Amino acid sequence: MNSNLVLEVDRLSGQQIGLCYHCHKCTAGCPVVDAMQYGPDLLLRMVALGRDDAIFKSRDIWLCVGCYTCATRCPNGINIAATMDGLRQISLARGYAAGERDALLFHRLFMGVVKRFGRSHEAFMLGLFKILSKVPLMNDIPAGIGLFVRGKVPLLPARITASAQVRQIFQRSKK
Ligand code: SF4
Ligand code: SF4
Repeated sequence: MNSNLVLEVDRLSGQQIGLCYHCHKCTAGCPVVDAMQYGPDLLLRMVALGRDDAIFKSRDIWLCVGCYTCATRCPNGINIAATMDGLRQISLARGYAAGERDALLFHRLFMGVVKRFGRSHEAFMLGLFKILSKVPLMNDIPAGIGLFVRGKVPLLPARITASAQVRQIFQRSKK
């Protein structure tokens, strides 16, 4: 439990990975575990053992969708979604290529749109994502048209009134 990675992840996530006694409840409830190579429980073990390279070369930390199911199930109150965020930060800081390129692209586009408009705008973000990712461009067009016709997806983004405060949040988070 004394690997440098444990200390780094604990500091970034505000969690205590050392509390994990590997009951597997988090992994049993994770909705994307079938697509993962290791799963959340094993990933925490690998952090404890200092298996940095294997963790950062796997897709797992990029497949986590941050649903918090693991956090609600953990008997020790470990918020694994937060540890996944920490692992992603460390992975990028150390220069690893994201195991899921499109996940990183999606994240950056989402944050870029929130920074610009103060809130998410699905049509704008997904349009950009489709153009820049490897996802086939025309795949979701029928669903998108249906959502637009029902008024669920506005064509133009609406700006919020507190956009200056949102910009300040981004500036502070950079510091
Ligand atoms: S549910 Fe909590 S204690 Fe159990 S394996 Fe997952 S992180 Fe560890
Ligand atoms: S937050 Fe991530 S690791 Fe936890 S259950 Fe959801 S997808 Fe799985």
